[in-house]
Amino acid sequence: MGFTFTLFSTRINFLIFLIVLSSPCEFIQSPMDFGPLKLTGTTDTASLDFGRMSFRAPFALFRPQSAEDIALLLSFIYTSSFSKLTVAAKGAGHSINGQAQALNGIVVEMDSLPSSIKIHRDEEKGSYVDVSGGTLWIELLEKTLKEGLAPRSWTDYLYLSVGGTLSNAGISGQTFKYGPQISNVLQLDVVTGTGKLVTCSPSKSSELFYAALGGLGQFGIITKARILLQESPKIVKWVRTFYEDFDQFIKDQELLVVSMDSKVDYVEGFIVLNKESLQSSFTAFPANLGTIVPQLYQNETSSKVYYCIEFAIYDQSHKGVKLDQVVKEISKEMKYLPTQLYSVEVPYLDFLNRVKVEEVNLRKVGMWDVTHPWLNMFVPFNGITQFKDLLLETISSSPFQGPILIYPIKRDKWNSNASAVLPESGGKDEKNLVYAVGMLRSANPNTCTKRCLNEFLQQNLHITTKATMDLGGKQYLPHYTDEEQWKLHFGGKWERFLARKSEFDPLHLLAPGQSIFKRTQ
Ligand code: FAD
Repeated sequence: MGFTFTLFSTRINFLIFLIVLSSPCEFIQSPMDFGPLKLTGTTDTASLDFGRMSFRAPFALFRPQSAEDIALLLSFIYTSSFSKLTVAAKGAGHSINGQAQALNGIVVEMDSLPSSIKIHRDEEKGSYVDVSGGTLWIELLEKTLKEGLAPRSWTDYLYLSVGGTLSNAGISGQTFKYGPQISNVLQLDVVTGTGKLVTCSPSKSSELFYAALGGLGQFGIITKARILLQESPKIVKWVRTFYEDFDQFIKDQELLVVSMDSKVDYVEGFIVLNKESLQSSFTAFPANLGTIVPQLYQNETSSKVYYCIEFAIYDQSHKGVKLDQVVKEISKEMKYLPTQLYSVEVPYLDFLNRVKVEEVNLRKVGMWDVTHPWLNMFVPFNGITQFKDLLLETISSSPFQGPILIYPIKRDKWNSNASAVLPESGGKDEKNLVYAVGMLRSANPNTCTKRCLNEFLQQNLHITTKATMDLGGKQYLPHYTDEEQWKLHFGGKWERFLARKSEFDPLHLLAPGQSIFKRTQ
């Protein structure tokens, strides 16, 4: 107490406030301001996330002005032995299952940290940027583009925070080439659960560095990240090819990410479940849909399933060569349905920001702020056909609104020291490939009430259970509610995860919404 008191001697009000706050009987709702350490009682936004399935209200919000503010908060809570408070950093709040919530705890709103984006050009070692943890990737992109630079690895959607995606992995169509976003970080500033502000990297405090990357917010709050940059492309050739045959779709994806990996800059793919799903997949892709739909569904029932590969090439990777020529060379090796190749040329920013177009469209029809029973998994290469069968069979009994993404990533682009989890390697037959699958389902509020949502969640549970047990799959953006399930999820990495937790957050203060650890006294 003596130590705490000294530390807060100029902030007695704050100390008293926290003591009151930590009593389970008291619930303070009115906004309060304690100088630089602002706690507010307006907690509605912090009990809501993109999933709209978990609603856990915190006691208060904390809007830090600096990393030191966060360190002060955490060191106070850590050293006050009577407190049972938990703390969750909230980036953009785009989690699905309340991962950034803290029931009766404190939510630290990372967007209040002054946005700082400092670009460093280094011809020899490569350029990089220092960016604060609450910055959105779109803000970072817009700033770096002004200097002709950009990060190498992305997520599909850019209105996510740097700290939020680095706490998971951050994957998209560039992951096969550059690894996930967590493989493109040179250094982090992290405030641990004991309130220490540490600068860490692969060569300095490396245990904390790797723990935080993909660490689900369990080891500290990322206040700053140093991220690798590359010369930014200006123009992107964005291509889609269609398949009836899943095996051929997989073979062509493999061709693109293995044999053609130096030519291709982005590879994803998705399942076209029916005519409506084809139409909605063309919201952002500026090709003439009017000619595509009749070709695929002219003589077919509107529920025929197709598979689409989406790949892209950047002008920056093919200086002096016409992009059409490159597409020609690549596509002549592919075996898509005759004539079913469509391509468009768009500015790099528009390409990376393509999901924004979908967001705007979905907002117009009231389908953005709805419940999202999403399921994301990594599936070993050898099990992807079985997984696809399991998925299609399971969801066939009910309507599916939203995209289903399937694309390969390369295992060797992930650092095994980081906390993020991939399926365990399947022995000598296993290729270097793992599949990322995203079932990004929306529940239509007009047609899907509690019973229907439960059915969707049951379907997800069926798929994850079977895919985990039978195929060795792992959830991405994982959601479990008890320790045994988490243990299974982390597999061979569990003991290290536990050891890191007891070193960096021994009282289990941080990110309670992940439901991995219970707060200790
Ligand atoms: P939040 O939801 O705010 O937080 C997520 C977790 O990280 C919480 O546990 C939180 O406490 C912790 N956290 C947040 N900030 C910090 C910090 N600074 N330091 C430590 N811990 C922190 N993911 C992909 O990989 N690829 C995609 O293409 C992709 N597309 C998406 C599209 C949409 C529309 C949505 C809603 C999500 C998508 N995601 C994707 C998932 C997304 O990456 C994760 O949900 C990510 O956590 C969101 O970032 P956020 O800032 O909203 O995090």
